Amino acid sequence: MTRYNIALVVGDGIGPELTTSAKTILELINDNSNTKFTIKEVNAGDDALTKFGKALPDFSIDLIKKSEACLKGPVGESAADVIIVLRRLFDLYANIRPAKSYPNIKNLSDNVDLVIVRENTEDVYLGWEFSIDENTIIALRLISEKASRRIAEYAFKTATLRDKKRKVVAVHKANVLRKGDGLFAKTCRLTAEQYPDIEYSELYVDACAMNLIRNPEDFDIVLTTNLFGDILSDEAAQVVGGLGMAPAANVGNNFALFEPVHGSAFDIAGKNIANPSSILLSTKMMLEWLGDKYKDDGPFNESRRIEDAITSLFRQNKKTKDIGGTLSTTDFTKLIAISMY
Ligand code: ATP
Repeated sequence: MTRYNIALVVGDGIGPELTTSAKTILELINDNSNTKFTIKEVNAGDDALTKFGKALPDFSIDLIKKSEACLKGPVGESAADVIIVLRRLFDLYANIRPAKSYPNIKNLSDNVDLVIVRENTEDVYLGWEFSIDENTIIALRLISEKASRRIAEYAFKTATLRDKKRKVVAVHKANVLRKGDGLFAKTCRLTAEQYPDIEYSELYVDACAMNLIRNPEDFDIVLTTNLFGDILSDEAAQVVGGLGMAPAANVGNNFALFEPVHGSAFDIAGKNIANPSSILLSTKMMLEWLGDKYKDDGPFNESRRIEDAITSLFRQNKKTKDIGGTLSTTDFTKLIAISMY
């Protein structure tokens, strides 16, 4: 296949500015390569809630279902009603959050290249909170062997595809959450036995949070549960330059959705200063996933162009305000476009 249908969720806050940047780059690829996209804009989020009474209207779900992949801008107050629903609907069980050092971007180490592989369907995200009485709340945390096994397998498979470190660290808190994280850790250990070529270790989440600051370059694949992955990935993003640089993928067996790690950043919305690197690196991940799923070299090649262009601009110290530069969102996007072809 050389033409891919992409559902583009515009989102709220800085969402429209970022998705415009991504759309510009996808259209550029359309015009300059054999990889073609049909981009369908999808209504979802606060804006959709105001206009249609639902943050994720049925017609938006239909459009997403008819596409090969979804690229999503950040959604505002109604985020949970969009992303958590989509993750469940498409069984997007793996949340992939890379953190990488780029030239001239302030970081804690120049050699960070790690990927957080976060379980995406369980843990406290099921929203099972109950009031015992007015002043006491109980929250339930689901951990299953099935979900732990498939995320562990995803992490080890990802490690086998890496050309550098090839190691997996399972991160948990099994000394306190003995049953739930005990099961998660045991499942990771059993999975590790099937991958003798991959170095395997375990860390408690507190030690992991510390080591991510102390020696971030030591990490390769960080395999963890939903809540810990959420927190550690924001930390990892900060280690290599901040949220404006942080892409993510939500991957299932048949479908995947790509989005920046950050939220709608209403404080900078509409000012043309948001860093589009987060969504452009998410776009790069989407092209890699399409290339892999459809056994097509085209999207792979284009994904490399995006990352090479970003790296080359940073090397020339051309960057947006959040990472110490002066370029606007649109000017940064234009320069990316010029250096891609
Ligand atoms: P949420 O609760 O939805 O995660 P939040 O309000 O905690 O969102 P984010 O929107 O994730 O916060 O971002 C935190 C801050 O980081 C923003 O207020 C903004 O200043 C900065 N930021 C986030 N993304 C970008 C970006 N792409 N470019 C520049 N700055 C950004």
